[in-house]
Amino acid sequence: MPALSLIDFERDALDTLLTYAAIPCLSPDYDAQWAEHGYIDAATELLATWARERTFANVDVTVHRLKGRTPVLVVTVEATAAGTATAVLYGHLDKQPPLGDWSDGLEPFTPVRRGDRVYARGVADDGYSAFAALLALEAMEANGIAHSRCVVLIEASEESGSPDLEAYLDELAEHLGDVALMICLDSGALTYDRLWVTTSLRGMLHVQLTVKVLTQGQHSGSASGVVPSSFRILRQLLDRVEDAHTGAVLLEELNCEIPDVYVDDANSLAHEFGDIIAEELPTLPGLELMGSSAQDRILRRTWFSTLSIVGMGGIPEPAIAGNVLRPSTTAVLSFRLPPTVDAIRAGEAVRSALTRDVPSSAEVSVDVIAADGWLTPPLEPWLTTALDAASNDAFAHAPGFTGEGGTIPFLAFLGRRYPHVQFVATGVLGPLSNAHAIDEMLDLNMAVGVTNAVVTVLGAFANQEES
Ligand SMILES: [Zn+2]
Repeated sequence: MPALSLIDFERDALDTLLTYAAIPCLSPDYDAQWAEHGYIDAATELLATWARERTFANVDVTVHRLKGRTPVLVVTVEATAAGTATAVLYGHLDKQPPLGDWSDGLEPFTPVRRGDRVYARGVADDGYSAFAALLALEAMEANGIAHSRCVVLIEASEESGSPDLEAYLDELAEHLGDVALMICLDSGALTYDRLWVTTSLRGMLHVQLTVKVLTQGQHSGSASGVVPSSFRILRQLLDRVEDAHTGAVLLEELNCEIPDVYVDDANSLAHEFGDIIAEELPTLPGLELMGSSAQDRILRRTWFSTLSIVGMGGIPEPAIAGNVLRPSTTAVLSFRLPPTVDAIRAGEAVRSALTRDVPSSAEVSVDVIAADGWLTPPLEPWLTTALDAASNDAFAHAPGFTGEGGTIPFLAFLGRRYPHVQFVATGVLGPLSNAHAIDEMLDLNMAVGVTNAVVTVLGAFANQEES
C-alpha cells in the first residue's frame, strides 16, 4: 500500500500549498524588483515554516541567502539508515508570469480547486515539489522505512535559468557531502497514470536580434523605396538559420544524429499512446501539423532543433500603426537544441550567421544566451528496479521513459558537476498542466503518486547504500 494518500496530502500540505499559490513570487527575470517586493522571501519563509512543522527524527531547516541572489531553502533530513551517501531532492519556488488572461473563473494568484485539480500559477511548476519531497521523507519515518541522508534543495531562480544555483552549490558543496542520487521534481509527464522519468532534455538559445537602418522613423512615402526595410533585412537574416518553408534549422552546429535507442523509444511510445504529442495541443481545426507520424512528432519534440519567434520590438500595435518606415526591428529568437548539441558552439554559429555580410550593410546587434540540453546518465540496475517498483506501487502501472522538449538548465549543469551521480528527473507536468501558459494546473493525485514513488526510490537507495 502506498505510504501517502490524497487525504494525507490534503490534511498536511494543501492549505500551505494554496497559500503559496496566492504569492506572486515571479522569477527575477520577470520581476526585476523581486528583492523589494519580497514575494520570493515570503514564499521561501512559508515553505521553511511548513518544513519546520514536519516530524523528523533529525532535521535542519535553513534558508541560505547570498548577497544579491535569490534565497535557497535547504532541508536536511539525516539518515535513518546506515551509509554516508546523500540524496539531493531538487525543486524550485519561483514562478513564471501569468502570461495572459486566464479562463473564466481562474486567476493566476487566486487558487481554485476543481475536483482533485488545483489551478494557479506555480502549483505544478514547481510549488508541489517541496511538499512532495518532505511528505515522502516524513511518511518514510512514520512508516519505519529507512532512508539515507537527504537534502531537499528548493531554489528561487529556476525560471530565469538558475543563475543563482551554482553559487549556492559552491557554498553547500561540503554540506551536500557524498552525493549519489539526484531527484529532480521539476519535469514532465505524458499521462497521469504512471511515473514518468525524463531521459533527455533539449537545450536552448535565446537570441535577441536587432536590425537598424535609420536614426529615427521616416514618413514611408518619402523613405520607402530608398531606405531598405529593417523587417525585410531581418527576414533575409532569418532565412540563413531557418528554412522558411519547412521550419528546419539550417545550421549544422544546431543539428545532430539521433541515437538509435531514442528512435526506438519514440517508436514504442507511439505504439502505446498513438499521437500523444499532437493530441494534447490546442490546435485549431484543420491545422496541418509538422511531422509525418506519431513517432516522428515525438522525435521532433525531443531531438529536433527548432526556432520560435517569441517576441518582437520596434513594431507598433496594429491600432496605432502609422505609415512610417520604422528605424529598426527586433526579434527574439528561441531555439530548442537537441540534447547532445553544444549550446555555446551553437550560439556562436547563430551569431556568425546573423552578423556576416549583412544585406545593405544595415546595423545588426545579436545577444545570445545559451543553455545545454541533457541526457540521463545510464541507470544502474538497482535504480531501474526501484523505478519499476515505484511506479507499480504508486500507480499500479509500469513507469514511462521519455525525452522532454523543454530545457532545465541546472540539470546539464548538475550533470557536469556530478558526473557519477544517478539522476531521476520526474514531475507532475502532464496534459493540461499548462506550465508557463494560462490556467496552470496541479493534478493532486499525480502529486501524491509522485510523492509515493519518491518513497520507494529513496527506500531502495537506502537499501542499496547499506548493502
Ligand atoms: Zn519548473
